[in-house]
Amino acid sequence: MASADEIRELMRTEGAAVAQNTQAFNDGRYESVAELEDYEELKREARSIKEDAIERLPDLVEELTETVEENGGTVYVADDAEDANRYIRSVVDDRDAERVVKSKSMTSEELDVNDALEADGVDVVETDLGEWVLQVADEAPSHIVAPAIHKSREAIAELFNERFDPDEPLETAEELTHFAREKLGDQIVDAEVGMTGANFLTADTGSMALVTSEGNARKTVAATDTQITVAGVEKIVPAVEDLHPFIELIGRSGTGQDITSYVSLLTPPVDTPVVDFEDDETPLSELDADRDFHLVLVDNGRLAMRDDEHLRETLYCIRCSACSNSCANFQSVGGHAFGGETYSGGIATGWEAGIEGLDVAEEFNDLCTGCSRCVNACPVGIDIPWINTVVRDRANREGDEPAEWLVDGLMPDAEDEGAPLQKRFFGNFETVAKLGSATAPISNWLAETGVSRRLMSRVLGIDPRRELPSFERETLVEWFADRESAVENPDRRVVLYPDLYTNHVQVERGKAAVEVLESLGVDVVVPPAPSSGRAPLSQGMVATATDHAERVAETLSSHVAEGRDVVVIEPSDHAMFQREYEKLLDEERFTGLAEESYELLEYVYGLLENGADASALPAVDGEEIAYHSHCQQRTLGLEAHTVAVLEECGYDVTTSEVECCGMAGSFGYKSDYYELSMDVGDRLRDQLQADDVRERPVVASGTSCLEQIDALLERQPRHPIELLSE
Ligand code: SF4
Repeated sequence: MASADEIRELMRTEGAAVAQNTQAFNDGRYESVAELEDYEELKREARSIKEDAIERLPDLVEELTETVEENGGTVYVADDAEDANRYIRSVVDDRDAERVVKSKSMTSEELDVNDALEADGVDVVETDLGEWVLQVADEAPSHIVAPAIHKSREAIAELFNERFDPDEPLETAEELTHFAREKLGDQIVDAEVGMTGANFLTADTGSMALVTSEGNARKTVAATDTQITVAGVEKIVPAVEDLHPFIELIGRSGTGQDITSYVSLLTPPVDTPVVDFEDDETPLSELDADRDFHLVLVDNGRLAMRDDEHLRETLYCIRCSACSNSCANFQSVGGHAFGGETYSGGIATGWEAGIEGLDVAEEFNDLCTGCSRCVNACPVGIDIPWINTVVRDRANREGDEPAEWLVDGLMPDAEDEGAPLQKRFFGNFETVAKLGSATAPISNWLAETGVSRRLMSRVLGIDPRRELPSFERETLVEWFADRESAVENPDRRVVLYPDLYTNHVQVERGKAAVEVLESLGVDVVVPPAPSSGRAPLSQGMVATATDHAERVAETLSSHVAEGRDVVVIEPSDHAMFQREYEKLLDEERFTGLAEESYELLEYVYGLLENGADASALPAVDGEEIAYHSHCQQRTLGLEAHTVAVLEECGYDVTTSEVECCGMAGSFGYKSDYYELSMDVGDRLRDQLQADDVRERPVVASGTSCLEQIDALLERQPRHPIELLSE
């Protein structure tokens, strides 16, 4: 795991450049995909092509091999990095090459091919600007698409001036680019071998599609007589026509460009003569056209990933980087913390677990908070948070078991293997909350004493700067049990799900929810119910989460059978019912619950749309408020319902656009991540303190968002339902 010190250092040195660049990519993405009429259809098409291709992968490898060989090239399927490097070295050696020029290849980063060739005395030159900057700086990429995203223009200028000592110091982007182009031009001219990656390979024609911003891939291919293309086996698609949705989506998803500067479709070896840069006499047509092409298809764990029901989806990834860009934590720390040996960002966990192993993936896996903002951004619809959860679960099971006495009472029955103590504590927060309420207010007092805070910090890694939740003695369920529903002849009937926080901590918002629903003619019950399993799931305790899901489904199903709708206050629990339970429950129980459950303000919106009397809600006259939606609520497309209800009541609503509040449940409580959480939160604070928003009261839907905003601002935030119950 990246240590707090490392995270702090990266935030200081690289954070600003990463944040600025990823946010610019995101702005471009929002704009560019909004112009696509058939965005969702393109995503569906892209996903279905990848699903089909991975399903038929062994056949496609065979077909592609035959096609490339018919075209006159050679195919080598490499089992692992060592095997691939051995083959590449032999090709370079056979050609007597002294220099290899490279372009566009994350897969070669994965193989460490540069090191292998350099050990043979070969000069390897990266020709893409970002990669070259890193080669000069001797650093690793920090982003899938923009490898030097963590470097500002000033830092690159400093590096070049120091390293090359030019006559005039370089300063502007134009000067730097021009300088690099000149340097690289000379290197390409002298090279014997060109090496590229491939975004896609088409089995029917043996073509490689390269989507680039600089066009150096074309130069490396055209200027050398020996071309090596290195690509993971998962890059194969059946046919050239299949490229269409990907070409539409890849640039828009990653850098927000409608189309990248260069889209090259090469079917090597081609008949074009190789340029002899030293001979400016002979016409091109008379030069030798004898080109050699080697396609190195890399397995390196991919075929095993294909057989892994959870990691398989990783192979659908088209390496666009939208998941990194949309990730609030990535925006703060970049891929040097949020990444493994090669890949970075949300999907990197899947890649690194598959090609390097769990231990590498585990090092940064905790930086995924499961907020799900990447899910809609991914052009092939990969459930990235789920892959992260599964890897976390596997890492937990490989870990050392904490001492028995430490976990006594904290260990959920369903989790029989060794998750770290901190994860068990947060994963079993239900027990803590029950105990907290049963013994409040003493529990609240005790938790805040210096001795307790020091113990919590030392044993559980809970940051002493974070305010702890204050448990209510009377839970929502207990409050409700002592009252009768006041609604006669109800229009609808609801079971209000008492999530852990509403039931034990934020009881007032639960009461407000009951009162608002009743005022709109709804009969409400609030039964005792297990917690949703969100807490254990976010700690990677899948067995415990499954146990919760089963008990929740059982508890709520009897109410659904009575004709009640399920209404959920906490968006992350609602997201469990709508998304994650699909992985934890059988189809019938999942569908039954997902179809009958609604987020609270979505439900109120539905009631108003279907004729409920809006005059039962308070009416204001243009009162200004600021609203921060919840990540998972946004992923489910539910932000608009809250805004619509508030506007119906007469509020003038400003919404926050930032990706996240930086809290995400237990994440912000952990000392390792406290500063990162606050750094992400700063972006929200800036927005809520902008000139036209500063005076507005703040409302937020998520528990963790409310807590974070409370820590960030002087003014205390409230849940929107509390405005409606006034
Ligand atoms: S997981 Fe999806 S969003 Fe992330 S890089 Fe791969 S294709 Fe792009």
